[in-house]
Amino acid sequence: MTASTPEKQTLGFQTEVKQLLNLMIHSLYSNREIFLRELISNASDACDKLRFTALDNEALYEGDGELKIDISFNKEARTVTISDNGIGMDRQECVDNLGTIARSGTKEFFSHVTGDKAKDSNLIGQFGVGFYSAFIVADKVTVRTRKAGLDAADAVEWESDGSGEFSISRVIKAGRGTEIELHLRAADGDGDDPADFLSGQTLRRVVRQYSDHIGLPIRMAKERWDAEKSVYVQDGELETVNQASALWTRSKNEITDEQYNEFYKAISHEFVDPMAHTHNRVEGRTEYTQLLFIPAKAPFDLYDRQQKRGLKLYVKRVFIMDDAEQLLPGYLRFVRGIIDSADLPLNVSREILQESRDVKAIREGSTKRILSMLEDLAENKKEQYAEFWTNFGSVLKEGAGEDFANQERIAKLLRFASTSTEGDAQTVSLADYVSRLKEGQDKIYYATADNTKAGRNSPHLEVFHAKGIEVLLMTDRVDEWMLSYFSEFEGKELVSVAKGAVDLGALSSEEETKQLDEANKANEDLLGKMKQALADKASDVKVTNRLVDSPSCLVSKDGDVSGHLQRLLKQAGQKAPDSKPVLEINPAHPFIARLKIQDANFDQWCHLLFDQALLAEGGQLEDPSAYVRSVNALLLAGA
Ligand code: ADP
Ligand code: MG
Repeated sequence: MTASTPEKQTLGFQTEVKQLLNLMIHSLYSNREIFLRELISNASDACDKLRFTALDNEALYEGDGELKIDISFNKEARTVTISDNGIGMDRQECVDNLGTIARSGTKEFFSHVTGDKAKDSNLIGQFGVGFYSAFIVADKVTVRTRKAGLDAADAVEWESDGSGEFSISRVIKAGRGTEIELHLRAADGDGDDPADFLSGQTLRRVVRQYSDHIGLPIRMAKERWDAEKSVYVQDGELETVNQASALWTRSKNEITDEQYNEFYKAISHEFVDPMAHTHNRVEGRTEYTQLLFIPAKAPFDLYDRQQKRGLKLYVKRVFIMDDAEQLLPGYLRFVRGIIDSADLPLNVSREILQESRDVKAIREGSTKRILSMLEDLAENKKEQYAEFWTNFGSVLKEGAGEDFANQERIAKLLRFASTSTEGDAQTVSLADYVSRLKEGQDKIYYATADNTKAGRNSPHLEVFHAKGIEVLLMTDRVDEWMLSYFSEFEGKELVSVAKGAVDLGALSSEEETKQLDEANKANEDLLGKMKQALADKASDVKVTNRLVDSPSCLVSKDGDVSGHLQRLLKQAGQKAPDSKPVLEINPAHPFIARLKIQDANFDQWCHLLFDQALLAEGGQLEDPSAYVRSVNALLLAGA
């Protein structure tokens, strides 16, 4: 607080607001008309809130129940004014709502800011700029507002030039609601002049483009062309300039793609068109309208658990709440849109939503619709689906692990990197994999690894490479978790190449199986000695047919947590069950041949073999310096 009288106070913006204002004014200038979309959206929200609150208190309408938004401009004064007769704000609400950013994820947002204009303007689009976008075009913003139910003398005036402070004082305002007056900036050096907005034509165009779908009338002064003076003149009468019916209530064939896109951008605060949408009126036991969008880009806070998600909920056209997360399962949290229910009570609360059978039906219905949309993309628009997968694939994978009712459908939508492809791209579907099964192969093999390179080069894959069997490479954090709930596709078991005995089924000949048994018998002594030497690290030591080029690898027993998952859990600060792996050795390798005749330093050789195997699968040594000492000692002893 820098100055105050009982009537007028000057307050500083929260630090984040200052940063945001700065960023916005500089990076959004080329997109400046969105300020109007944001202010109209707030005015519309304010009317929605009033309608909702007035459900139990009719008096709040003060005899004026026709909710609307008016836009006017004054060329001489260089001002544009947007006013509504919605709920309004009291003094404290002005301070809180127009001086801070309450949204969660703000910190996260600023951690992504790069200083690169193009990148940042994209980012800020994902953040949702809201009220502060007024400062893109204005060098002074004056808000006059009176909260519904308060006296005319208890209205508030908020004013700021956007540089760091705002003032707040008491004023008289007869009409309920909020009036926002923007004093437009002077033209900048590039000839971009916000004075463009001092025109009925421009304002109408922008309103129609961004806010046509708003369910309330947006009104402007009628204009008539005066040919003599060559100017538009206003004669005081107002007209509605938008369609003023909520977009989703119109029939599909009356809505253009562009209108859907603008609606999406308005509710999501995005700048980019969505990838796909679905719009349906569902009838039957529960009746509702759904309008759902799949975004083209992932928001920066997709993995933030605090992130607001869910759909906007309306009941019989009345706005009820944002972010109704009960309307969608968590793994579809990237979907944006609205649900308008005909059955839910208007006073529905989040608690009621949790229990409601109607909500359950809506959630199930919406899930099915979204899966159909994704199936359609995957089938008919492969490039778009690939983009979708890059953005949201790892979120959809959560569904394979948690939505058992739809598991089969989700499984078909999954895409993976594999030994049959190159690089990191996840493009192989399980159906692709199955279509390439080798004769006699009845399992789907996968390797989990920190990255595809480590996966491809893992010793565990050697026998698969040798036999030309495809292996899926799982490198997302969610994979291990998903695989613990998702273990079969079209009757084929999903099997880790790093667990249990390599069961190649009919792929390994009887001869090979026999040879393995014999090798284990023939090396009984060696294995026994090694087991003793590694008693504190390995639960067993065995001869394997898994390896071709490497001397050894680590394998977890069936049912044990894999080494990769143990590492992920540790990284996440969680306790990993302590299970010792099995050390498998390749008797054909010179290292093992050497071990057989090695007496001196035998234990040290064994530990080296174990540690190498751990390193090869991307693990970390418990005592790296001991490893280095040991390697050096053995090298020098051999020299
Ligand atoms: P958002 O709309 O996402 O909440 P904004 O920055 O657009 O964020 O607006 C901040 C808050 O200011 C709103 O949540 C609302 O409480 C308040 N507000 C803004 N405009 C109005 C208005 N015209 N009438 C009443 N309250 C408003
Ligand atoms: Mg807003």
